[in-house]
Amino acid sequence: MRGNDKKKKTPSQEGVKPQKAQRAEAAPFQKGMEFELLIEGMGAEGQGIGKAEGIIFFVKDAVIGDRVCVKVMKMKKSYGYARLLEIIEASPYRRKPRCPYARQCGGCQLQALDYGQQLKYKEDKVRNNLRRIGGFSLEERIWDPAIGMDVPYFYRNKAQFPVGRDKDGRIAIGFYAARSHQIIPNRKCFLGMEMDVIEQILDNVASYMEENGVSPYDEATGKGLVRHLLVRYGRATGEVLACIVANGKRLPHEERLAERLQPIKGLAGIVLNVNEENTNVILGRESRRIWGKGHIMDVIGDVKYQISPLSFYQVNPVQTEKLYQKVLEYAELTGNETVWDLYCGIGTISLFLAQKARQVYGVEVVEPAIEDAKRNANLNGIGNVEFFVGKAEEVLPGFYEKGKGAGEMLHPDVIVVDPPRKGCDGKCLETIARMAPERVVYVSCDSATLARDLKYLCEEGYEIKRAQVLDMFCQTVHVESICLLHRKDS
Ligand code: SAH
Repeated sequence: MRGNDKKKKTPSQEGVKPQKAQRAEAAPFQKGMEFELLIEGMGAEGQGIGKAEGIIFFVKDAVIGDRVCVKVMKMKKSYGYARLLEIIEASPYRRKPRCPYARQCGGCQLQALDYGQQLKYKEDKVRNNLRRIGGFSLEERIWDPAIGMDVPYFYRNKAQFPVGRDKDGRIAIGFYAARSHQIIPNRKCFLGMEMDVIEQILDNVASYMEENGVSPYDEATGKGLVRHLLVRYGRATGEVLACIVANGKRLPHEERLAERLQPIKGLAGIVLNVNEENTNVILGRESRRIWGKGHIMDVIGDVKYQISPLSFYQVNPVQTEKLYQKVLEYAELTGNETVWDLYCGIGTISLFLAQKARQVYGVEVVEPAIEDAKRNANLNGIGNVEFFVGKAEEVLPGFYEKGKGAGEMLHPDVIVVDPPRKGCDGKCLETIARMAPERVVYVSCDSATLARDLKYLCEEGYEIKRAQVLDMFCQTVHVESICLLHRKDS
């Protein structure tokens, strides 16, 4: 889909500048042509990038340093897409992917790239975006070295699998192939924890469906029942939650499903999530417990967390602990501070910080997540936090503009933000600037919106003091980073 989009501009890229002046008419390349190419950069979607006669080519599955033979698939005005035909000389950074489906599957994009280079790729991405979008030329000392994983596999505590049929009409549960909704019936994901347990759940759900004539959902017709299977795992507790996403409020013979799944190691609960919409969004709003508990527990640092199926929870618990430690370090708490934690999810960062702050206020738009957050505060006996449900861009101005709440609340020492990929809303940023905390800690999962938001905050009197990439999503192109801003006049 991405490659066919006519309105799309040049795919974003790392380390290679587009050649604006080049035109296809002048270029000696046409669809179907084969030629040799040196891969000199990596694009935003993990493709290799090489330049021939001034024209940039994007080559899926090629890695930086490869000398490859490619075939032109599509030409645009100043760039083209080519398919990898043969690796003539493998890059010193090329690695054999652990997963046999790495090339087909849409989940990982960087398995063939050396892990040290993956970290460099991610750091370059953040640096480039801060420079290009934010206009920052940061001094080298601002950067803390990227934090990777010792074993950058088997880290995910959540897996979600589409349910459909294979070409022989049998139930297929697996992964979507890259850029499509075709299901690859693979149950072993090398990014997931507890591969065996997950495989057992999938096998048992598939058998239950076959035996009881339960149909998978068909995206084309909107008919059929079971859409997705979601498995969540609490790394510290070993608890497993199986969540079946269905196009209906009930499953036939739910007790038979429960009987099949109960013996699986660690299974704490089975939940049915209802999603009757014609949508790409996996989860619906309503969940019902079929068996056991409706949530799992996990522990990060010294804090226990309850996690419901609808609440956001970081997918890499090993790195999450390092991230939260980093937030704590950047927040420079002494015990007297008032802190806002915006986009707080189930209150993870809020509770982590509350241990070292005077008072923490959390804001989150998803109501079940706030219910989890409040419960988590009680569960840990943490009394100096308060949570508000709503949009950060409404809750924060709601207090500030009306002068509602205690003075410290309106003039906090630290504000932490951890927004989704689209970054912070303008109104939220404006209110942060007006509240003028001494420090802002920005946790980001999209460095383009990070750069945009930091540009605004720096125009409003802040400066970037520290920045770091923390690899939450090893083997994929997704980048997590954290930045510390100080108010210049403080
Ligand atoms: N800090 C948390 C969650 C970060 S993910 C953690 O580390 O676990 C981002 C969170 O922002 C999600 O929980 C999402 O539901 C929430 N969110 C999205 N848009 C929001 C908005 N406009 N206002 C407040 N929260 C929002």
